[in-house]
Amino acid sequence: MQSDLGQKDRGKFSMKTLYLKMRCEGSNEVVWNRLFCGNPARPRALMTLWQACHGRLPTKDRLLRFGMLGDKICCFCEGPKSHDHLFFGCSVFGDVWKQVLEWIQVKHHPQEWNEELKWIIRHDKGKGHKASILKLAVTETV
Ligand SMILES: [Zn+2]
Repeated sequence: MQSDLGQKDRGKFSMKTLYLKMRCEGSNEVVWNRLFCGNPARPRALMTLWQACHGRLPTKDRLLRFGMLGDKICCFCEGPKSHDHLFFGCSVFGDVWKQVLEWIQVKHHPQEWNEELKWIIRHDKGKGHKASILKLAVTETV
């Protein structure tokens, strides 16, 4: 992260720096970095997706590990709430994602987080409107 910062910004954290990193002015060390390139979603939604890609959202399994919760059962489907279950693995949120995909005319059956992320990265290639809509859809759904 340090290498792309200007000389005057080294060592300082700012939301602007983080936001610029998320908007593709940073490194390409991870495959999901492309999801943030030219993504027209709201900054807050991009931040949530960025946290999800890093596995840093406060999911029940993480809160249980920190001793902040007593169970990790999903509030919606009573499945095990974990990062992999998050969003696409949950039957309730999986249905929401499925409806969003139908709405943007993409035929696909939602899977767990890691598999879904790989699928999204494979299908968001290109600069066409369909790739852009898929990036926007996943960002705003997460
Ligand atoms: Zn669930």
